Amino acid sequence: MLPICNICAKTRVLCASCETKLKNEEISEMDVKIAEMMYDFGKGEFGFEKAVDVGDFVVVLTRKEDIGKIIGPGGDNLRKIEESIGKLIKVMGASSAEEMIYTLISPANIVSTSKLYRADGSIMRKIAINKNDADKLKMDIYSIKKIVSNLLHADVEIIIG
Ligand SMILES: [Zn+2]
Repeated sequence: MLPICNICAKTRVLCASCETKLKNEEISEMDVKIAEMMYDFGKGEFGFEKAVDVGDFVVVLTRKEDIGKIIGPGGDNLRKIEESIGKLIKVMGASSAEEMIYTLISPANIVSTSKLYRADGSIMRKIAINKNDADKLKMDIYSIKKIVSNLLHADVEIIIG
């Protein structure tokens, strides 16, 4: 699976449905660009869920079984994408959004997670991390927050305490 349909990735022209997703910010320009390159490498045989630009690098979220294919022989695919977007990529795999959150935060432990439903119907997720684990995080809180928000389509607050 790619964030855009295979035909859009192949032709590099977005259909009305993919165009709408981009407009509504369900997908980003980065998703489109990486999807087009990934299609060239895999012809739709493998893909990714989402690419999140966190500033210094881009996190590509995918299914575990696709990690090796995305990286390519000797890291070739990844290197080509990195050169094209001008940023380093971290490929992360998990089979569900929940697992992805744990992967992002591990080896730090999640103390609790909660959902808050706001009056406007939007959801705010709170993830609490043990303060003794804060220095174990593989990336900064801001990056984690951005990735998780993107993944869950919800506002996320990460609390250390
Ligand atoms: Zn499309």
